[in-house]
Amino acid sequence: MIYAWVDGVKRQPKAKGETSVCTGCGGKLFAVISPTRIAHWRHRGGDCDSWSEAEGPWHLQWKSIFPIEWCEVTLKNQAGETHRADVLVPSSCGASLVLELQHSFITIEEMFIREKFYKEDHRMFWLVHLYQDNKSNSSFNFEMSLNTPLATHEVKGKKFEVHEWIMRGNFLEKWKSSTAHVFLDVRGRIFYLATLAACKDLVSSLNPKEFAIARLTRQEFIKAAGAVINI
Ligand SMILES: [Zn+2]
Repeated sequence: MIYAWVDGVKRQPKAKGETSVCTGCGGKLFAVISPTRIAHWRHRGGDCDSWSEAEGPWHLQWKSIFPIEWCEVTLKNQAGETHRADVLVPSSCGASLVLELQHSFITIEEMFIREKFYKEDHRMFWLVHLYQDNKSNSSFNFEMSLNTPLATHEVKGKKFEVHEWIMRGNFLEKWKSSTAHVFLDVRGRIFYLATLAACKDLVSSLNPKEFAIARLTRQEFIKAAGAVINI
């Protein structure tokens, strides 16, 4: 986790040797200060949230946009299960919104389990990071598939472009089945992916390799999340 409470202030660790206590499990946290990692807090015996992933600059950059009290909020469902939302955007009317920042691969089963948990009491956005490194070619494969749209459709005032995934490893098929709202962060550009839940008629009309996206700015994405902040 990136943030923990130290003397009444929620923050990243600043120095080796600092300690804190996890508000989720009550366990002790240790500062990790490393030249190769962002400064973060580590549980002694592994993170109490089995859904946590190793976090890097991409997570930090997004979390730092929001007020720190909205970040890394432990939520408990009716059955008493707890997980830490990456960002919880409060709402003055209706359910607050869980924004999950997803950098690492998850299976479709994991996707549905997390959606079931968070959607029990909240709205939910995924922000899926597409990137390129020695493990992933997702941003390259996505951008190679963005040619002239096969078609365009307007759904609820949004213009969607239909494209065909022409590369290997079409992981968007999984995200098309999401029951939440799915946004893609492709090297800083934001796309809203048409999903069965949010755009049923459009997605039902697509062939298996096709996907539909609407382009939006980062500010539009923040606004869609219900956050009244400027970036
Ligand atoms: Zn914990």
